Amino acid sequence: MAHKLNDVFKGRIRFIGILLLLIWVKTIYAYLFSFNLDPENILQYILMFINPLGTSLVLLSIAMYIRKTRRAYIVAGVIYILLNVLLIANVLYYREFTDFMTITTVMGVSKVSQGLGASSLNMLQPRDLFLAIDFIVVIALYLVTGVRNLVRFLNKQPLKWPHPNFAGDQDTIKNHLPGATTVLGITLFMLTMAVSELNRPQLLTRTFDRTYIVKYLGLAPFTVYDGFKTAQTSQVRAQANSSDMDKVLDYTRSNYAKPDMDYYGTAKGKNVIVIHLESFQQFLIGKKIDGREVTPFLNSLVKNKNSLSFDNFFNEVGLGRTSDAENMLETSTYGISSGSLFSSLGTDNTFQGAPAILQQRAGYTSAVLHGGSGDFWNRNNAYKSLGYNYFFSENYFDHDTDQDTEFGIKDKLMFAESPKYLEHLQQPFYSKIITTSNHFPFTIDDTDSDFPDAGTSDVTINNYFKTANYLDASLREFFAYLKKSGLAKNTLVMIYGDHYGISDDRNKTLAPLLGKKAKDWTSFDDMQLQRVPLIFYSPGLKGGINHTYGGEIDVLPTLMHLLGISTKRYVQFGTDLLSPQHEQLVAFRTRNFITPDYSYIGGKYFLNATGQRITPDLETKQVLKADKQKVDESLKLSDLLATKNLLRFYTPTGFTPVNTAQYDYTDSLRRMLKVEKQAGYSSTSLYSKRKDKTSTVLYKSDAPELKDNESIITKYPATADKKSKPDSSDTDNSSDSSSN
Ligand code: MN
Repeated sequence: MAHKLNDVFKGRIRFIGILLLLIWVKTIYAYLFSFNLDPENILQYILMFINPLGTSLVLLSIAMYIRKTRRAYIVAGVIYILLNVLLIANVLYYREFTDFMTITTVMGVSKVSQGLGASSLNMLQPRDLFLAIDFIVVIALYLVTGVRNLVRFLNKQPLKWPHPNFAGDQDTIKNHLPGATTVLGITLFMLTMAVSELNRPQLLTRTFDRTYIVKYLGLAPFTVYDGFKTAQTSQVRAQANSSDMDKVLDYTRSNYAKPDMDYYGTAKGKNVIVIHLESFQQFLIGKKIDGREVTPFLNSLVKNKNSLSFDNFFNEVGLGRTSDAENMLETSTYGISSGSLFSSLGTDNTFQGAPAILQQRAGYTSAVLHGGSGDFWNRNNAYKSLGYNYFFSENYFDHDTDQDTEFGIKDKLMFAESPKYLEHLQQPFYSKIITTSNHFPFTIDDTDSDFPDAGTSDVTINNYFKTANYLDASLREFFAYLKKSGLAKNTLVMIYGDHYGISDDRNKTLAPLLGKKAKDWTSFDDMQLQRVPLIFYSPGLKGGINHTYGGEIDVLPTLMHLLGISTKRYVQFGTDLLSPQHEQLVAFRTRNFITPDYSYIGGKYFLNATGQRITPDLETKQVLKADKQKVDESLKLSDLLATKNLLRFYTPTGFTPVNTAQYDYTDSLRRMLKVEKQAGYSSTSLYSKRKDKTSTVLYKSDAPELKDNESIITKYPATADKKSKPDSSDTDNSSDSSSN
């Protein structure tokens, strides 16, 4: 047997086998020590170990088809070198940006002037030598031989060069072998595809995270996939012209709703803190389990005379979920029909985003605080396109507690750490805080919540109430800080739920808790559960519960009008919820819609008052048909705007399109503090207003992690500003952080 194997593994097959083994070991080395792939279970580990094999084998097998032996070796060598270049370039790029290279970011198709510049070479570390060890050995071999040949040359002896052990003409490949090798590679690749699809459905269609694609499928497939997407995008864009933009403008201009003067400008000049409640549905508000309120704080907030809340407010997200919600709230344009707009277009589309508008119209400084990874949903790039000045993602929060949930640092800890960033922002500021604890599968430690079990047969549903209760408690602590620090007085807090937490297929189990019978549950009921909270809180705001029907698309014009900024000149698909001209028609990404009276679901009409399916009379039918047309048109035009990047053709009066090259989120803390220092006495940050006394000490939290470790609240973590600079002395420090 051993003899037979030796027979097969000779010549170019052995050569290709060695190259495959080398690139495999190197890729695994990079997976483990350079990329933060964070495999969560055995299956993901197995996928991660297997995935470099399939594609590398397919590519290297090309050399098997080449008849001439020497040429085959050269082709295999070149393919091998290309695979190495891809790997090493990604290792360096990842070290700088904590993300994988995409065609858009590297080729400079975009406005992003980031690539593998000289600074990346400065980031080489000794351990990277391993990735080039074979090249080093080969080069060394040739150098040694070169010196020997020099001696031979001087002694007038014939020269000898080393060469691979070409088998010459004897290296004939059996006819079936090339095909078999390719098929083996493809089979391995398909296997990883299939297992990935089972483990993480819609991996490619949703494209929420590049890390996931690399973890599941590998680096080369990711690059090919990204290249394909990029080509597709640029082709669609190339076909665009400014008359497309005119169509969009015709629509958005005729759709514009003028503000209600009772509300217009009532929060003018105030800070804005947007709190993104992860997976938070409206039915949680006021809900009790075993006589205990799920969200006692939010319930009290809704009743507060300074709170304006909406109880017929719907999420309108598609496959882009969280990122769709963010996109709608920041731009008043819809997410795209497949995948996530942030992921596929967020890097180089032109946006008229809230941070840019508020900065240019009213001098706002903007920041996002998020206890999760910055590359999720491509936020690292999309936020730049929106004009966010700073982005404080997970590295800016303390990680020593090893108390993260799957999607980020726990909410109580994240909120507790927020003042050290908020207090240094120049006021007025526009800041968004993204929570993560209330995320599927809604796991929570017993030490974090003593909330009773809802007692359904579905543990996900039972846990949902616990994590929601935990999120509510974290909000209470944060609001207490806002009051104590004085921020509350000049701040408008806007709270919203991004999308459902309980999916439609679980709703029947949830039904009894909502006073319904599982057997009576219909798609109408599913739609009603798409309500999410929207609450504005600001001292002096005319409060109350508003029953207007609206959706996430309507938030930006509503917010801007409260801040006294006219929205007429911008391209927005939503309208001010407080405007008497606001049309109460909520479009879903599925093209279903809801109005105060009717729900349209997949071709069927339901009467909201009874929940019964109806056949509308002729007159009603005409009205609903017009509604349907408007929904279709609005989604279609928004898609046109996004996929063709039409906003590059239309710059509103006084608006300067964002130049993303001006932003650097690996350096947010230092840059923010520099602005404060340079402003000196005219600095408007809370910290400066408090005469350089920190407000972090005012934060009180009952989180068990903070009990004996309150310094988390006041100190910046060592991983903040993790980008290593050639001129900084602590580059060693940053190399540690890139591997954890
Ligand atoms: Mn979400």
